[in-house]
Formats: sequence, structure tokens, C-alpha cells
Amino acid sequence: PAVESAIEAHGLGKRYRRGWALKDCSFRLPTGRICGLVGPNGAGKTTLLGIAANLLEPTEGTLRVFGAAPESAEANRRGAFLAQEKPLFRRFTVEETLRMGRELNPGWDQKAAEDIVRAGNVPLGAKIGTLSGGQRTRVAFALAFGKRPDLLLLDEPMSDLDPLVRHELMGTLMAEAAEHGTTVLMSSHMLTELENVCDYLVVIAAGGLRLAGEVDELLAAHTLLTGAKAGE
Ligand code: ATP
Repeated sequence: PAVESAIEAHGLGKRYRRGWALKDCSFRLPTGRICGLVGPNGAGKTTLLGIAANLLEPTEGTLRVFGAAPESAEANRRGAFLAQEKPLFRRFTVEETLRMGRELNPGWDQKAAEDIVRAGNVPLGAKIGTLSGGQRTRVAFALAFGKRPDLLLLDEPMSDLDPLVRHELMGTLMAEAAEHGTTVLMSSHMLTELENVCDYLVVIAAGGLRLAGEVDELLAAHTLLTGAKAGE
């Protein structure tokens, strides 16, 4: 049988009242990889992730998650989405937040969730409202990974964090994904934030797909085209 793709989009388009946010996007995302979705502000990244997470309906074209429609029970069970505005309750403690995750998700992995929180020394008894931005992001990661998703969609998860905290969270993300074979699709408007972490890139601008492929190959092509030396 053909190799399964984590995401497969064909002619995908989304129009809002003011115009097309996404137009004619076709690409495949390989499974088990850390993939980056990069593009400037307003490029359509959130729209694309929203369609994959079944929060938005495409105006035209199709998108499949492991071969299934986004609204299917299978896609819902296998995928997890973390919105840019992290949906955490300020008055809940970390422990209560994870308990909520357990109650909402049949396949909940409490150990994975707690390990992520502990790796950042975030106290289980602390209220969400008292945590730093990096700690809150870590709790949101724990909620997402506790679901044991096969595909994790992250919308600019670290854009508001300083480089050191970002580096630490990236480390946790990569370790968790590697351990469980999770496919990750993470958006950012900064290529530098993604190129050292991701091995596959999807580049969009003004709602259109520009490039999709292996980071190594994209960087090699860039070197060939521009004459720039590797690492520059
Ligand atoms: P950012 O980095 O700023 O989040 P993005 O790449 O995620 O940008 P989108 O949020 O998908 O881009 O937006 C793409 C375009 O669609 C933008 O022009 C935006 O103004 C518009 N848009 C997004 N959501 C809506 C909506 N709900 N209604 C109308 N227009 C929208």
C-alpha cells in the first residue's frame, strides 16, 4: 500500500469575507517527523492548522489527516491542536489542569503529561495564573502530549518566549515526539526558529504554497541558487 501521510492537502482553499486566506494548497506531510509551517504574518498558517484541527471548513479542496476527514472520529482521536492563545484556566492548578485532560481524553497518558511538567520544575500545585509564559506553554504541551496524539498541531507555540526558554521547550518537544513517534506540525513566522528543529518544511505566503520538502534539500537548493555557503 502507499505510504501513509500524516496530512495530505489537495487544492485546499479558504475564503473569508475579505478574500482568500488560503488558495490552491497541495502538499503531503510525512509521518513521524517534526515539520515546520513557515510564512509571514497573515500568510494563512492559522487557517491551515484550523482546517486540519476541524475548527474551520475549507471553501474548496480537501485535507486528510492519516487518510481520514478532519471531522471524523479517527482524525479527532489521533490529532491534537494547541492554539496560539493557550486555552488554560488561570484559577486551576497544574494538577487540576491535567485532571481535566484525563477526564476529557480516553487514552490519556498521565505519566507522559507529568514528566513534561516535571522536566521544567513546574510545581503541580501551582495555579496557572501564577506561572511564567514558558511554564504555561509547558503545561499546554503536557495537555497536548497527554492525549498521546499521532499528530500534534502547534500554532506559533513559542513566539512570545525568549530564546533560552524556547530552546528548552524545543528539547522537550523533540524528545517526546521521538519517544512516541508523534508527527508534529509547528507554525512560525521565523525560519530561524524552525530550521534547527524541523526536518521537513512547508512554506506559505499570501495564502499560497511556496515550497514543501526536506529541510536538507531545501537548504541545499538555496545554496546552489544563491552560492551561499552552508551555515551562512
Ligand atoms: P499570523 O502569523 O498573523 O497568525 P497566519 O499566517 O496564521 O498569520 P491567518 O491567521 O491564517 O494567517 O490569516 C490569513 C488571512 O486571513 C489574514 O489576512 C487574516 O486577516 C484573514 N483571517 C483570518 N481569520 C479570519 C476570520 N476568522 N475572518 C476573516 N478573516 C480572517
